[in-house]
Amino acid sequence: LPPKTREIIKRETNVTCHNYAAVPAVLSRGKGVYLWDVDGKKYFDYLSGYSSVNQGHCHPKIVAALVEQASILYHTSRAFHSDLLAEYAEFITKLFGFETMLPMNTGVEAAESAVKLARKWGYVVKKIPNNKAKIIFCENNFWGRSIAAVSSSTDITAYENYGPFVPGFINIPYDNIERLEEELRDPNVAAFMVEPIQGEAGVVIPTDGFLKKARELCTKHNVLLITDEIQTGLGRTGKRLAVDHENIRPDVLVLGKALSGGLYPISAVLADKKVMDVIEPGTHGSTYGGNPLAAKVGIAALTVIEEEKLAENAEKMGKILRQGLGQMDKDFIEAYRGRGLLNAIVINREKISAFDFCLKLKDNGLLSKPTHDYILRLAPPLVINESQINESLDIINKTIKEL
Ligand code: PLP
Repeated sequence: LPPKTREIIKRETNVTCHNYAAVPAVLSRGKGVYLWDVDGKKYFDYLSGYSSVNQGHCHPKIVAALVEQASILYHTSRAFHSDLLAEYAEFITKLFGFETMLPMNTGVEAAESAVKLARKWGYVVKKIPNNKAKIIFCENNFWGRSIAAVSSSTDITAYENYGPFVPGFINIPYDNIERLEEELRDPNVAAFMVEPIQGEAGVVIPTDGFLKKARELCTKHNVLLITDEIQTGLGRTGKRLAVDHENIRPDVLVLGKALSGGLYPISAVLADKKVMDVIEPGTHGSTYGGNPLAAKVGIAALTVIEEEKLAENAEKMGKILRQGLGQMDKDFIEAYRGRGLLNAIVINREKISAFDFCLKLKDNGLLSKPTHDYILRLAPPLVINESQINESLDIINKTIKEL
C-alpha cells in the first residue's frame, strides 16, 4: 500500500471499532461515478455507499439543497412543526402513492419502525392477543444491525453473541410461496417483511410472480405486506421501486439510503392512514427524524431521480453491464445476475475470494465490496453512462486475465 494510505488506515484502526473489513482505499473526493483516494488515484465506484449514492457523488442539486437549508434552519425536532415537513411528506407520499409517511434517519430505524407499526396494527386493528404478534421474515434477510434486526437474521456473523433475541419472529426460505402460505394461516401473524430482491444476501432475485402471489396471500390472510426497499428502491433496479417489476403495492414501504443520495441519513416508512394511524403521539419518535434539512435534501434527492430518469438509465445500463459480464471467462464468473444496476457475480471459489478479487480490482481502478466470500456486488451510481460501463467492464475483464 502507498505510505499515506497505510498511515491513515493504521491510525483509523487504532482508534475505531473493528466492525468493518474495509477494502484498503482511503478516499478523499467523489464526483459522479468516480472516487479519488488521498494520492489522487481515480476509481469507478461500484458500491455507491451500499446503494446510497444512486444520484452520483456530490450531486450539485442535492448539495445546493443542503447548503441552502443549512444556513436557514436545520433542526427543531418534532416537538414543533417546521415549514418543510409538510412539503416533503406531500412530495414523497404523492410520488409513491401512499397517504402518510413516518420520517426516520437510518435504514434500520425505518425497518424497525415498520415492524413496530405492524405489531401495533396487529393488536389494535387485527385484534391479535397481547404480546402474541408474529412477523414473518425470510432467511438471509438483511435490514440492519439493531437487536431486532439481528433477531430476525439467519446469518451467524450478524447474530452470534448478541442474544437474547426478540421473540415473535419467524423465518421462512426466500421465494418459497408454500411456506409463506403455511405461516400466514397463523392468525397471530401481523406482517410479512421482505426485500423484493435480497441485496446483502448476494442480489438474490425471487421467481417471477413470487411477490405478486405474496401480495395476494397477505391480503387474503389480513397480514400486512412490508417491502424493505432500502437497497432496491429509488431507481436502483431499473424501476422507481423493485415491486414495480411485478406491479404490486405493499401495505408498508420502507425507504432509506438513496433517499438522500448518500448525503445525509434519511429514511422513511410509508403507509395508508388505516395502518399508520395506530401510532399515537408519544408512542414512537426520533430526535432527528423529519428535520428541515432532511426534508429539503429528501425532496432534492427524489427530484434528481425523477428528473434525470435514473431508473430508466439503470435499466439500460444494467443490461449492457450484464451483457458484458456474460462475455467474460465463464470458468471465473460462474454466474452473474441482477436487475438494473443492482448486480452480482459469483466467483469460482477455486480461483480467488471475492475480497481478494476486490483488492485487484482496486489496483486497476474499480472499487467494490463482496456480499459473501465468493459473491461480488456491482452497483455503480445510476448516473453512469455507456462508455463508463464499457470502461469498467474492461477493468473487470483485464483483472480476471491478470490472475
Ligand atoms: N434494509 C436493507 C434491504 C438494506 O440493504 C440495509 C443496508 O444495507 C438496511 C435495511 C439497513 O440500512 P442502514 O444501514 O441505513 O441501517
